[in-house]
Amino acid sequence: MPRAAVKTAAAKTRAAAPPERTAVPSKRHAAPWKPPSRARVLRVRDRLRGVYGIPLMRPHEEPIAELILTVLSQSTNDRNRDVAFLRLRTRFPAWEAVRDAPVAEIEEAIRPGGISKVKSVRIQAILRAMSERPGPPGRDAEEGGGELSLDWLPEVELTEARDYLTELPGVGRKTAACVLLFAYGLRDVPVDTHVSRVGARLRLLEDGAAFERMHDQMLALTPPGQELELHVNLLRHGRRTCHARSPECHDCALARMCPSRALFT
Ligand code: SF4
Repeated sequence: MPRAAVKTAAAKTRAAAPPERTAVPSKRHAAPWKPPSRARVLRVRDRLRGVYGIPLMRPHEEPIAELILTVLSQSTNDRNRDVAFLRLRTRFPAWEAVRDAPVAEIEEAIRPGGISKVKSVRIQAILRAMSERPGPPGRDAEEGGGELSLDWLPEVELTEARDYLTELPGVGRKTAACVLLFAYGLRDVPVDTHVSRVGARLRLLEDGAAFERMHDQMLALTPPGQELELHVNLLRHGRRTCHARSPECHDCALARMCPSRALFT
């Protein structure tokens, strides 16, 4: 399958998410939040595992595709995102061509994904920033020869890889975590709107905390090697049961261990 046609299994789990630093609207607990014990995290993990199983997704090693796919996922559904992505890759098989094309052509290619004017500018800004700063310290623009690559990410310290990504224009912790986890299986956990909502209701995460802070909390509580499982299963639970406005607590496998149940029943 050509790279242009890549549609990752990981991408299927991603929600149409709001901007990354949006606060989580929810009913609040009176008691102050404190980090969950390891035993509680494992109980939640096991209960989710019993409902949704253990997700299996091999890292796809397409970091730029993951980055652009995450940009395209904003404010749209998975289907429209995928249509936009495939149109873009069919029209521009190389990321360098996406970077250098007239912005109107990018906008036209990704139109099915919505807010294409904004996304086209953002995609090119990211790719151009990568050209200007093509890798970790010590590597200059000449070395890359104008080619775009993030293949070096697994070779540097995780914090360095994350810092590089979050310094790209408009790239936040969630997008960086998607790239690190889905492309390379590195230790990071994307906290999107579903993961933040379910995590806060279960009091794994601090309700109302900034997304940056929630990412740190999520990383701290996640057992090494289970980043994908916790992300995917919390996300699935948010989509299927623990809805934003009307969570189905009466039909929730985690109801007995959920301190928020009383807020909704
Ligand atoms: S009991 Fe209700 S609020 Fe708690 S996780 Fe289940 S659906 Fe969400």
